[in-house]
Amino acid sequence: MGEEQDVDAWFIPASEESKKIINTIKQVVDGRKLDKNPDKDVLNLSIGDPTVHGFTVHGTVKEAVRGALNSDSFNGLGPAHGLFCARQAVAKYHTSSEAPLTEDDIIMASGCTGALDLCFTVLGNPGQNLLIPVPTLPFYTSTTIPRGLVPRYYNLLPDRQWEADLDQMEQLIDKDTVAIVVVNPSNPCGSVYSKQHLLDILAVAEKHSLPIIADEIYTNMTFKDQPSYPIASLSKNVPILSCGGLGKLCSVPGWRVGWILLHDRNQRLKKEVIPSLLLVAQKILGPSTLLQAALPQIFDKLPQSYIDQTMVVAKADAEIAYKELSVVAGLKPYNPTGAMYMMVGVELSKFPHISSTVEFMEKLMSEESVFILPGECFKYPGFIRLVLLISSDKMREACGRIREFCNRHCQA
Ligand SMILES: *Cc1c(COP(=O)(O)O)cnc(C)c1O
Repeated sequence: MGEEQDVDAWFIPASEESKKIINTIKQVVDGRKLDKNPDKDVLNLSIGDPTVHGFTVHGTVKEAVRGALNSDSFNGLGPAHGLFCARQAVAKYHTSSEAPLTEDDIIMASGCTGALDLCFTVLGNPGQNLLIPVPTLPFYTSTTIPRGLVPRYYNLLPDRQWEADLDQMEQLIDKDTVAIVVVNPSNPCGSVYSKQHLLDILAVAEKHSLPIIADEIYTNMTFKDQPSYPIASLSKNVPILSCGGLGKLCSVPGWRVGWILLHDRNQRLKKEVIPSLLLVAQKILGPSTLLQAALPQIFDKLPQSYIDQTMVVAKADAEIAYKELSVVAGLKPYNPTGAMYMMVGVELSKFPHISSTVEFMEKLMSEESVFILPGECFKYPGFIRLVLLISSDKMREACGRIREFCNRHCQA
């Protein structure tokens, strides 16, 4: 329409903050030529979204949402920190005698990511730092750096079931440190911490008077007979902001329902942090009221067997992958005990024509149509991450292809 406009004369710039947002998965994967082998079907072990792997929503969950919709009672706005009934349901599901919760201790958020983002907003000023585990998830970088918070990465030790290197963690702490982030059970490592290790982390936090932000979206999602402890159940004196969500538990990551459980040991959060969380929650006015209203029924009626079944698939895949890959020259798998991931070390020195795990990903896709993510996505080169949610047959097929790939490229 009309004359040609001079685009540069009316250029609309984006903010500096927005331009600092980096998604390491996109950064690493996009722009790579991820062409599959045309003769082989793709086996996707890259994405931790259960719906991609054929997991369907349990009937009781659908029923709960239908009920909320049909009631015509949840179309309006609710409190920014969440509907009373939703907070009550989340509190009831997570409460325990060691870590009691009521609806007043819950803040609803847009997914677990939104819950973590609220915590970072309220706890940190520009220039201050947060301790974050590495291997790390992309959103820990993209939700801290743009607002001027400095992520300081503490190491997880693969040969000690991915426990935190507490000595190194402690060296990172200074007067500008505002919190320690603990991801347990872990994505991408699939590890589940022992009671003793959690107590040791709490001791570091207590010594330095730091709160813990716990990413516990995989609480209750551990392999059979693997005990797991929400860190708040062990904390006597350290305040815990535990973030979680419905996405992995019910295979509905797209619903964006999450929460913060506030375990305010000795009322250290009461004066400023909790009132500020309530203020910040007003920025997006909470997650969908319709889905919040379904939570009481979801938590009441969803059978534990549904969650157990997800873990049965993950554990079976882990056992296959460990057995098949531990005998492959150049690879070292690390056995997970929870969540839905496995990390595998790649001895790059034995692969003369592969210079990085990014290249490993590319070549594995183009030759074998197996899609994994390289450690570079998690600031952890030299490893690859497998998602453990596909059928046993497909997992066997994927491992067979990885073995052939390594046999072709590895020079012992
Ligand atoms: C998937 C995942 C999240 C993101 O959860 P959403 O509810 O989808 O925002 C957060 N933390 C970990 C460890 C995850 O694996």
